[in-house]
Amino acid sequence: MSDTFRTFQPVTVPDSRLDSPLASHEAALDVGANNLVACSTTTGNQYLYDGRELFGRFRETTDEIARLQSKLREGRYSSNQIRRLYRQRTKRRDHAQNALVRDLVERLYDEGVTTVYVGDLTDVLETHWSVRVNEKTHNFWAFKKFSHHLACICEEYGISLEVESEAWTSQTCPGCGDHEETVRHGETLTCPCGFEGHADLTASETFLRENSDCEVRPMARPVRFEWNDHDWSGKPYPHESPKEVRTNPQVASVGR
Ligand SMILES: [Zn+2]
Repeated sequence: MSDTFRTFQPVTVPDSRLDSPLASHEAALDVGANNLVACSTTTGNQYLYDGRELFGRFRETTDEIARLQSKLREGRYSSNQIRRLYRQRTKRRDHAQNALVRDLVERLYDEGVTTVYVGDLTDVLETHWSVRVNEKTHNFWAFKKFSHHLACICEEYGISLEVESEAWTSQTCPGCGDHEETVRHGETLTCPCGFEGHADLTASETFLRENSDCEVRPMARPVRFEWNDHDWSGKPYPHESPKEVRTNPQVASVGR
């Protein structure tokens, strides 16, 4: 009819709203030292919580504590100022860590995730990590505290947390399945078959595929979160800015 017209307006509906409330999705975490948590979900999302800036600040306080300790009179081992710095350092770390767990679990809950797989962290600490990384994780990252908090928040949201062995996942190539010829350099995992990807994100995806019976959707562009003293703010990763791509070839090479 000539007196009728229609308009079409494209509307973007977030993935979470497309899923029924009964949807049962899953996620897997790779817990590390530089990237505190890398996460892949069966809904096709990947999250990376970057801890380097946070660790830098933790380290500064540690250095200041060492400087003050070297100036103590003989026979003295601490001072009010030193104790205050220790407390401050712990408080800041716990704040960021608790915020990370909550941010992540809320995100997963909104996506309809009901099961989260996490590696056996004690095993990881003992067998795969260098002394340097161990120092970083024991003092700074405080693994046990993190695991405990993660379990508590998951419980609060009704998400089941399952501890599974993650043997080989961090070295396994998702392209060909090899885990002997792959090379990890910095953040990048490469394989003679031609695969190249972000090592921690790849590990979390491999870990997810190994444990989940759900269909795993193709991964969207990862989101990288950084701590800004108040919350974890996220940006697509790697960034699109051509300048950053030029000045940071390692980031540029990580693509999907
Ligand atoms: Zn391969």
